Amino acid sequence: MNLELSEEQTAVRQLAEDFVAREITPYVVEWDRAESVDRAIVKKLGDVGFLGLTIDEEYGGSGGDHLAYCLVTEELGRGDSSVRGIVSVSLGLVAKTIASWGSEAQKRRWLPGLTSGEYVGCFGLTEPGTGSDAGNLTTRAVRDGDDYVINGAKMFITNGTWADVVLLFARTNGAPGHKGVSAFLVPTDAPGLGRRTVHGKLGLRGQATAELVLEDVRVPASAMLAPEGKGFSVAMSALAKGRMSVAAGCVGIAQAALDAAVKYAGERGQFGKTIAHHQLIQELISDIAVDVDAARLLTWRVADLIDRGQPFATESSKAKLFASEAAVRAANNALQVFGGYGYIDEYPVGKLLRDARVMTLYEGTSQIQKLVIGRALTGVSAF
Ligand code: FAD
Repeated sequence: MNLELSEEQTAVRQLAEDFVAREITPYVVEWDRAESVDRAIVKKLGDVGFLGLTIDEEYGGSGGDHLAYCLVTEELGRGDSSVRGIVSVSLGLVAKTIASWGSEAQKRRWLPGLTSGEYVGCFGLTEPGTGSDAGNLTTRAVRDGDDYVINGAKMFITNGTWADVVLLFARTNGAPGHKGVSAFLVPTDAPGLGRRTVHGKLGLRGQATAELVLEDVRVPASAMLAPEGKGFSVAMSALAKGRMSVAAGCVGIAQAALDAAVKYAGERGQFGKTIAHHQLIQELISDIAVDVDAARLLTWRVADLIDRGQPFATESSKAKLFASEAAVRAANNALQVFGGYGYIDEYPVGKLLRDARVMTLYEGTSQIQKLVIGRALTGVSAF
């Protein structure tokens, strides 16, 4: 793997750094307290090309490889995980999945709007009763003439209250487990689709997380993405790339924790010298630094494998597992460097810790990543 960034990759990272400094950092505390980022950020992300990375230009995309996508995701995660998540879901889980699995008509219908930021996409897999065991979801889609009629509920859906389209997973036949699952592209203005904001989240407070309720929601058969019964494969392929994106966001959190800890340690004085002079503070900082580098290298490896057309799903689970746990450790260590000031939201590290914590839960918990990695190594499914 070549660890030198190309000119294009360096330029896109700089673009992202400038974007974050201008459009995100000044508002982070305000958005966190208000429990909502400014929705105008979506259009701005589209205008600068970040919602079209890796998507072909003929569908409104801005091209670029997966390492460029990781670099942008990392910078956004360094600025605000709520904004990072908008991109990871609308582009990463929805647009990229349509680009991979969609018909020509589906690509033309949805991709230009999703890549420009005119539309927001959300990914509807988790249900109130099925999280880790997503293959046993119970939302049903029943064929009725040329349509499907969908009934069920989805829980914890990122971008849910803002979204224009849901990539929705529902059971279409009597086959047990994941074999009976199909994927649909459901416009959120479809009659019978209700949305309720999930309030009181520990972190990612700026993000529009929703519960979706579907009561006799009617979509044409042409709304099905990929053949009937392939829905679980669609979901798993989306999550395999999605986990790389979460990992990149976690690298951003850990890097932000490192930057904040180093700066504060050089400014704060105790016992007649700055706390940077105390060896135990240097231990905290060096632990963060090692976590940043290790998480970044694991994440870049996934991007490199994807860009070279190699298998990457297990490596993506490893990166997501390590980077999410590393982000929690890094933010917690940084909070320790800040002492009591780390505990109030005038300083950034408390929010980093709150935002990091969910990364070990969604797109497969740490336990689920270990089972994915264990299955790949032993050939035994221990779920
Ligand atoms: P459960 O599956 O009930 O797990 C509870 C505990 O049991 C966990 O510790 C888990 O690791 C453990 N466990 C479960 N099975 C096993 C096993 N076989 N062996 C060992 N341990 C096990 N979902 C979406 O579809 N779209 C989204 O956009 C989305 N966004 C989210 C945003 C937020 C802020 C949150 C909190 C969640 C989001 N999710 C989303 C849902 C998320 O993916 C699930 O919460 C996650 O998959 C875990 O499911 P669960 O919460 O039902 O926990």
